Amino acid sequence: RSNVVPVAPILTKLQRDCATPLPVLRHVADAMTADMRAGLAVDGGSDLKMILSYVDSLPTGNERGLFYALDLGGTNFRVLRVQLGGKEERVQATEFEQVSIPQELMFGTSEELFDFIASGLEIFAQKEGGKFHLPHGRQREIGFTFSFPVKQTSIDSGILIKWTKGFAVSGTAGRDVVACLNEAMERRGLDMRVSALVNDAVGTLAGARYWDDDVMVAVILGTGTNACYVERMDAIPKLQGSKSPSGRTIINTEWGAFSKGLPLTKFDRDMDAASINPGEQIFEKTISGMYLGEIVRRVLVNMVEDGALFGKSVPDKLSTPFLLRTPNICAMQQDNSEDLQDVGSILYDLAGVESNFNARKVVVEVCDTIVRRGGRLAGAGIVGILQKMEEDSKGIIFGKRTVVAMDGGLYENYSQCRRYLQEAVTELLGTEISKNVVIEHTKDGSGIGAALLASANSKYD
Ligand code: ADP
Repeated sequence: RSNVVPVAPILTKLQRDCATPLPVLRHVADAMTADMRAGLAVDGGSDLKMILSYVDSLPTGNERGLFYALDLGGTNFRVLRVQLGGKEERVQATEFEQVSIPQELMFGTSEELFDFIASGLEIFAQKEGGKFHLPHGRQREIGFTFSFPVKQTSIDSGILIKWTKGFAVSGTAGRDVVACLNEAMERRGLDMRVSALVNDAVGTLAGARYWDDDVMVAVILGTGTNACYVERMDAIPKLQGSKSPSGRTIINTEWGAFSKGLPLTKFDRDMDAASINPGEQIFEKTISGMYLGEIVRRVLVNMVEDGALFGKSVPDKLSTPFLLRTPNICAMQQDNSEDLQDVGSILYDLAGVESNFNARKVVVEVCDTIVRRGGRLAGAGIVGILQKMEEDSKGIIFGKRTVVAMDGGLYENYSQCRRYLQEAVTELLGTEISKNVVIEHTKDGSGIGAALLASANSKYD
């Protein structure tokens, strides 16, 4: 092949284009703060929708009774029941099940998707056993976690703005997703009721707050990404004076749509152009699990074509979009063997590629570059939120312990990503202030959180 260039300069250019030195991080954090304000001022004022959650009271620990949660957010949906016993007993029992969503339903009709969900819920509800108790004559109430952008109209209704994360279900956009679920439950004769519709970030915040009063922000870093936080009602100009008894509410930022000041490469732009939502969800496409593997794959294809990364003949399997998933790049980066054996076998198993040690090292470097950028930009986004809160209420955020509750498969499993995120937060805030900011993983907070919000909004109280 002619015009073959060495791989090293391609890698160097990639690292330069993806670099996130402190000024870049600061710019991103400041732009996030500014976009938050613009989105709070008027609807449509910013990339950030700053959606009202209608969650005005946070869990206190006093919640009691049996509640269900249903979580639809990505590759799986989860159903959960929890028996809450108030301040002393707290969570007396929980049970959950996870059902993976068949690929074809992600491209099917709204009825098909919601019928599938209702049937999963029905099968789960039928197995309700001894530890769970519903007072006689009561309907089972559900907290419905739905992690796609929804224009919430009340705590128990909301209109889907658009599908994200690879979903392209027809007939749901513009409709109330609670009505969609209720209709599907009616079709099956399933007598349950959605009493709270919550975004997964909001559910995570509620779930984490149940155990810790200092939780002010929640961030999801999984297939997609989102963040929410506790806001003062009087700091939301677009509310035009509406009040809640607590004076506070949770704002769902939908920060996946953020796009300012991000260090992007041609690989990001090509992936975006080929996506089902070009020009949208740019932050999400830079930092979340659905995309990191795909960015790496696109870099590798370029290195193969221009730099003969794996030698002369390479199976064209590597040109299959989304062949590399984020768990694969995570596994490659966590390969501690001397000859990078795991990297070799992952490349071979997935793409049929034979690789030597040098090529494997380059692959790991590429993974690291993409994940480092993602983790650090996520950290800058978090600081953007915290500094917005701090500006409005001097000392309330940085002057005391403040907890950022994290969840999502990427954050949970990818230790390097976690470390880069924390590193960026510490760099931006400085060591003193960052001692007060606790970024911690809350496992399965959103499920319990949704059930807690179902309780807070029960029709029986
Ligand atoms: P979802 O966001 O789909 O509701 P999760 O929060 O569990 O569900 O996130 C799943 C996502 O997390 C996957 O799509 C993948 O991107 C990422 N992920 C899962 N396992 C790993 C792993 N071992 N390493 C890195 N990322 C992972």
